[in-house]
Amino acid sequence: MSLDRQRAQRLIETLPDMPEAARRLAPNHSPAPPKVANSADVTPAALDRRWQRLPASARAALLPNSPPIEPEDCARNIENLIGFATVPVGLAGPLRVRGLHASGDYFVPLATSEAALVASYNRGAHALTDAGGCTALLLNEGVTRSPGFVFANMVDCGRFAAWIVGQTDALRAAAATTTRHGRLDDVRLAIEGDHLYLFLDYTTGDAAGQNMVTLATAAACAWLLENAPVKPVRHYVEANMSGDKKASAQSFQTVRGKKVTAEVLLPSDLVSRRLRTTAAAMVDYWRMSALGGVLSGTLGVQGHYANGLAALFLATGQDVACVAEAAVGVTRMEVRADDALYAAVTLPNLIVGTVGGGTGLPTAAACLDILGLRGAGHARALAEVAAALCLAGELSIIAALSAGHFASAHGKLARGTHPAPSTS
Ligand code: NAP
Repeated sequence: MSLDRQRAQRLIETLPDMPEAARRLAPNHSPAPPKVANSADVTPAALDRRWQRLPASARAALLPNSPPIEPEDCARNIENLIGFATVPVGLAGPLRVRGLHASGDYFVPLATSEAALVASYNRGAHALTDAGGCTALLLNEGVTRSPGFVFANMVDCGRFAAWIVGQTDALRAAAATTTRHGRLDDVRLAIEGDHLYLFLDYTTGDAAGQNMVTLATAAACAWLLENAPVKPVRHYVEANMSGDKKASAQSFQTVRGKKVTAEVLLPSDLVSRRLRTTAAAMVDYWRMSALGGVLSGTLGVQGHYANGLAALFLATGQDVACVAEAAVGVTRMEVRADDALYAAVTLPNLIVGTVGGGTGLPTAAACLDILGLRGAGHARALAEVAAALCLAGELSIIAALSAGHFASAHGKLARGTHPAPSTS
């Protein structure tokens, strides 16, 4: 029996005897505690009411007398507010970016409770900066919503599809009634049996845009329902084909948010001084790790984009759940002339904004201020900085793994211990 089967068997055997198991796993219809009522009320009275049922000992930690964010600032960001999860914010930088939109030395706030993360990104950022910075190019942008339409049969579905092909301008006008900054760029479709998926591709200005495209799509769908010569039986404003909050092959090959590529050439002395390894050792490790990614079936091939992106997203008020789609891409490393290291990252799904969403909350706005990227006009630069940050993180982790420093760095920074150095 395989180890996996044996483990599964052991877990099953630890289940209590059958009558007890049946009792534990059966539906429980005993009275439940009073339900939490959904409310955007963030007044002191509403918060007091919610705390009545919670352990008083937790209140001081979650809702201190002077919270970092005033409850009234959150009315449009959360429901049923009880307080704030405080996450430490560390600083990495300078991160020198020579981009189409980002240009300069950035100090990057990173919110995390994972030891070694900030130190690792900081080390990569210094290596990049000492090399004169990384080049970063925004290649594409767009956010899609994919409403779904169900028809009585394939013939109706086909007639609707044939009609909709000529309606782009009308759909654009309907979408435009909901937003000043969003614009419907393209309309595509896919048919499966009597189902039709529409792809409405928008640009969203400096907002990440998920709400913007939802509201615009609802208006476009309303126009469609009113004007279509063939009516669907039912429709959904999103039929889960847009790639929202999930890694998908489709978004990997196109764009969701902003697509950015970044590269750097590190001279060999910099690789040894800053990263304590060699370009050849890094490329050897990169090759094996890239194949490890292929063999395990990852979408794209990269080391740990999610670490830097989650910390950056949390610090700057992005939708952290979008790390699910953003942390997808390709890292490549090569040895170049004179043992220099060439490294590049490409991230097609950086869904980031500098207005809207959580970016206006005081701590997020402060972090965007530190970056110099708060407000209108900065979303593209933020995407290029995010890609540069990922490049810094890839340099650092690949250097650490190639030189056998990965475990010792975590032992030192997370546990305060110095385990025996691993061999490389
Ligand atoms: P939003 O805060 O809902 O919308 C952005 C707002 O900023 C709009 O009112 C827009 O005005 C305004 N704005 C002002 N200056 C702008 C500029 N230069 N560029 C762009 N907009 C500008 O934010 P969002 O980015 O659309 O949505 C992000 C949030 O959606 C995230 O917090 C995420 O959690 C959430 N989300 C929603 C869904 C969903 O399906 N609803 C799904 C996933 C995530 P105009 O509208 O007039 O242009």
